[in-house]
Amino acid sequence: MRIEALRRRGWGVTWCLLACCLAAPLAADEYLSGIEWKKPPVVTPGEQGGAPSDAVVLFDGSDLSAWENADNWKIVDGVMVSGRGDARTRQAFGDCQLHIEWSAPTPATGSGQGRGNSGIFLMNTYEIQVLDSFDNPTYFDGQAGAIYKQTPPQVNATRPPGEWNVYDIIWTAPRFHEDGSLKSPAYITALHNGVVILNHFELLGDTPFNRPPRYQAHADRLPIRLQDHGNPMRFRNIWVRELRAAQGQQARPPYLRNNQGQETPIE
Ligand code: MG
Repeated sequence: MRIEALRRRGWGVTWCLLACCLAAPLAADEYLSGIEWKKPPVVTPGEQGGAPSDAVVLFDGSDLSAWENADNWKIVDGVMVSGRGDARTRQAFGDCQLHIEWSAPTPATGSGQGRGNSGIFLMNTYEIQVLDSFDNPTYFDGQAGAIYKQTPPQVNATRPPGEWNVYDIIWTAPRFHEDGSLKSPAYITALHNGVVILNHFELLGDTPFNRPPRYQAHADRLPIRLQDHGNPMRFRNIWVRELRAAQGQQARPPYLRNNQGQETPIE
């Protein structure tokens, strides 16, 4: 009779819920993937956009030794200034994280594509636009942060000419089958002055001015190229990290482990 009374008042349900809630954390088994991961390497971060300990430094203000075809480029007050001809890295890169800072000439002269134009060609082929896009209209898929002729940036985060703009780029190289056909496209994520402008954008191919984009098979690693578009652009603090996925192997099938250490395979 008393139980009936409790049930009528809803106490039975409340008690069951309380008991389940209390018991659940104690009884929960731990899920284990069965993968033996290798210890992630320790990397010391750089300060204020500086190069982390595992980065390849491409320019730190001292010399242009990491670059070729840069005879007409010069260093002025610790800053790399573009000259005639595109400069490209001596080292080749595939998947990478690239940090680069750039500044457009001041006072600003010219307009549209003629004002503070350069470009960063990942793998010597795929251009993310560098342009003085501060109060300087041009076609949207050609403004700063655009993948040239493929997509505008999500937003325009360009600082005024003379100030420093920062690109942080995460690049996934395209892959090709042995017969030269595309296996997987290139992807780019980019931040401009800390603002996301490209979020895992899938590239349609290369980025020429005069025809649609297309993929042509190329090496796994290629140089990074900085464009000379006739404007004296300034660059500083350029570094790149090769990206490698975490390492591990499936040592056993996934399983659950309870707090007594008993293991149960996951079907
Ligand atoms: Mg350009």
